[in-house]
Amino acid sequence: MQVWSELQTLAFAFFVPATVLGLLERAYPAQPDQPLLRPQLPTDLLYFLGQYFLWRALSLSALSEIQLRLDAWLPSLLRARVAAQPLWLQLCEAVLISDLCTYLGHRLQHHSAFLWRFHAVHHSAEHLDWLAAYREHPLDGLYTQIMVNLPVLLLGLRFEPLIALYTFRGLWAIFIHSNVRISLGPLRVLLGSPELHHWHHARDRFHGNYANLSPLWDLLFGTYRCPPKEPDSVGLCEPFPRGYVKQLVWPFLPRGPVDPR
Ligand SMILES: [Zn+2]
Ligand SMILES: [Zn+2]
Repeated sequence: MQVWSELQTLAFAFFVPATVLGLLERAYPAQPDQPLLRPQLPTDLLYFLGQYFLWRALSLSALSEIQLRLDAWLPSLLRARVAAQPLWLQLCEAVLISDLCTYLGHRLQHHSAFLWRFHAVHHSAEHLDWLAAYREHPLDGLYTQIMVNLPVLLLGLRFEPLIALYTFRGLWAIFIHSNVRISLGPLRVLLGSPELHHWHHARDRFHGNYANLSPLWDLLFGTYRCPPKEPDSVGLCEPFPRGYVKQLVWPFLPRGPVDPR
């Protein structure tokens, strides 16, 4: 019964975005010449399956372990004061702190040679679509989850609206990778659009657009980049292995393989 329920969740997680975003990718393509069955699709499919069958559960266990240790270590007085605030204020704090931590953490992933070894896996995608969002080294994914959940971990902000926020953030992360170019109109300063994130995947590692949900932090810190067209190409400047297992092992190698392809 448990297996059946897991398979239903998996089918839902695959076919809903494949249908909705797949239709948007056909109607409003950012790269009209990109075929549906583009190169490295099987690799990204393995990332998707790996997330659902293995890495997501391990990441959640690691987060609960971190939470338990912080609960015992951090002073309860601060958490009691945070919890005493009105819910709307706690929600605003959670959104702002979480988005700021994600922005700073992501910027560090691009500037620290050690963190970049893991984050480069995500940037190795040479074609963007909704499935490419899942290309993420598990340790890079855990790092991002820690950044996203920092307000919860440190301040003890735990209430239902956060679940909705995190679900929306996860869905939006898939949308901004899709091969779609749609103007968000005035909302573009509040919500990061695919065009911004496509430029984040441009071959220049320090191009900008590090924010996940809202580009406000990029605007504030001067890393907002929105040229009026799509980047000519996305991916890495350096050679990178193409297979799933090789990519997972790559960050641990002392140097890049002699012939990664
Ligand atoms: Zn990045
Ligand atoms: Zn991305």
